[in-house]
Amino acid sequence: MGNLIAILAHCGRGDECIMGDKAHTFLFEAGGVSALGGVFPHIIPNLADGTLDFDDIRMAIRVENVHHPHSRLLVLENTQNRCGGAVLTADYTQQASDLVHQAGLKVHLDGARIFNAAAALAVDVKTLVDPVDSVTFCLSKGLCAPVGSVLCGSGAFIAEALRLRKQLGGGMRQAGVLAAAGMIALEKMTKRLGEDHRRAMLLAEGLQQIDGITLPMGLPATNMVFIKVDAGLPISDSAFSYMLAEKSILIGNTGYRQYRLVLHNQIQENDVMQVIEVIKKLLSE
Ligand SMILES: *Cc1c(COP(=O)(O)O)cnc(C)c1O
Repeated sequence: MGNLIAILAHCGRGDECIMGDKAHTFLFEAGGVSALGGVFPHIIPNLADGTLDFDDIRMAIRVENVHHPHSRLLVLENTQNRCGGAVLTADYTQQASDLVHQAGLKVHLDGARIFNAAAALAVDVKTLVDPVDSVTFCLSKGLCAPVGSVLCGSGAFIAEALRLRKQLGGGMRQAGVLAAAGMIALEKMTKRLGEDHRRAMLLAEGLQQIDGITLPMGLPATNMVFIKVDAGLPISDSAFSYMLAEKSILIGNTGYRQYRLVLHNQIQENDVMQVIEVIKKLLSE
């Protein structure tokens, strides 16, 4: 709802919003910007490092012409989930923002995991969001709150966002109990994300040594490890995650014989070692 509200606040019906073909806003938000806002997504390819190519962005911006919709917004995602949790640098974000700002567009940053990006780059989150006009982030992923996302922007933007949230049925009353968990997420959990990143690396390095497992996205930059199980092994696409689930190891299926393993505060180093051992045993049987 945070991304949806941001896009609806920046764009009117029939306006165009530029985003990557691996963006969460394109793949996983049920087409909300079109269904509820009449916003037209203009899709350009995400590069393997999670970025959008500057020339592709330039080409996507429409010139004034009666045949064209108005280009209003660029959406970036940091970290980029489907590019393996790839990190966009402050420099990239600044350059992409400058490019579209010059053409009169705004920038929204889907920063669901922006604190992971800040931890990976060892920079203050402020420097990563400074160039953009609005940003969302999740309290409930690596930051461990049971629920919640936050949308940030200028005062005028947030005033409009509050109206849109109400329209969408997202107004809340006794929200303090959730905000309390969100404060722990922000004040405590943001400071320990480096541990998840170190454990993700440990997990990736361990899994990589198992015969039949490869890392299609390479070694992890943050807290997500993507693996591929060799088609030659006598275990089916769904049996792999099913058999791990029977051993209390829950992983996501992200494509044919491809899986995502995510680290968080409740997964310790000994758990990582156990996952490596269990997968090694499963594939050798
Ligand atoms: C999780 C996530 C969101 C928000 O998803 P909800 O399930 O609607 O909370 C948005 N963007 C990215 C990149 C995400 O990973």
